[in-house]
Amino acid sequence: MKIAFIGLGNMGLPMALNLARAGHDVTGFDVAGVTSDAFASAGSAAEAARGAAVVITMLPNGDILRAVADEVIPAMDQGAVLLDCSTVDVASARDVAERARAAGLGALDAPVSGGTGGAEAGTLTFMVGGDTDAFETAKPLFEIMGQKAVHCGASGNGQAAKICNNMILGITMIGTCEAFALADKLGLDRQAMFDVVSTSSGQSWSMNTYCPAPGVGPKSPADNDYKPGFAADLMLKDLRLAQQAAEQADADTPLGAAARDLYAAFVDTEDGAGRDFSAMLPRFEGRGRG
Ligand code: NAD
Repeated sequence: MKIAFIGLGNMGLPMALNLARAGHDVTGFDVAGVTSDAFASAGSAAEAARGAAVVITMLPNGDILRAVADEVIPAMDQGAVLLDCSTVDVASARDVAERARAAGLGALDAPVSGGTGGAEAGTLTFMVGGDTDAFETAKPLFEIMGQKAVHCGASGNGQAAKICNNMILGITMIGTCEAFALADKLGLDRQAMFDVVSTSSGQSWSMNTYCPAPGVGPKSPADNDYKPGFAADLMLKDLRLAQQAAEQADADTPLGAAARDLYAAFVDTEDGAGRDFSAMLPRFEGRGRG
């Protein structure tokens, strides 16, 4: 399949490489001039998109996605699919999909979970919004780049699923870190705390799989001086998107708002800047430092 891949950053490059290795005819474009020997390069997003059956975007935010969509939609062939894998606001995802459909294209929002490790290994999970025909066209590509693709309904629903999931993740990570800090003060051993909670009703992915306490539970960024992993500033981005969506939809999400505020303060501190989102634990150890 002829594929354009726009946005060859930490996630996009390994995803594009997996498609090229699987035998697809990939042409890449990135404003930063990123290229690869493994696939062709274009001089602009429009040039990459011309003649492609699927145009994949993996970009930093909704404003950039809108700008790239302005460029590629007029260049794409009728019936081709615009497949956005970035994490962006629901409103931008719906707007871009509407414009693509008006131009006779298929459109999907398909944000991912699994991080750079999942992008390299081809084990991402895709949460997909958009019409069934476009989903069927993109399915073989999801199977190469990932291990699971869930069709969540209409355009924007992929982004909705992503931000709801990550809002839960941010909240449970903060709760887990708070509880470890409290346990420390109460003289409870961290291993004992893990052994109880990971098999009791306080369990979550944050505790069981990505434990924020070094030396406890499976290997996680906590065991590597909180090097990301999933950086706190990316968690903050997703929590802000969740609050933006909640305001627009008039949903009541007080814990999501509190999590956003805590991460916003956290990324400005020495403990938080450039570190994994589980480094909230040293923040609570410092009793609210920052
Ligand atoms: P990144 O900053 O490494 O990559 C983004 C790339 O887009 C950069 O190479 C940049 O030069 C390029 N770009 C910016 N404007 C462009 C334009 N107008 N035309 C072409 N290219 C342009 O970011 P990333 O980590 O690859 O993340 C990409 C998306 O995936 C983000 O929306 C992010 O939230 C999401 N995401 C990231 C992770 C992760 O762990 N890194 C996990 C899940 C989802």
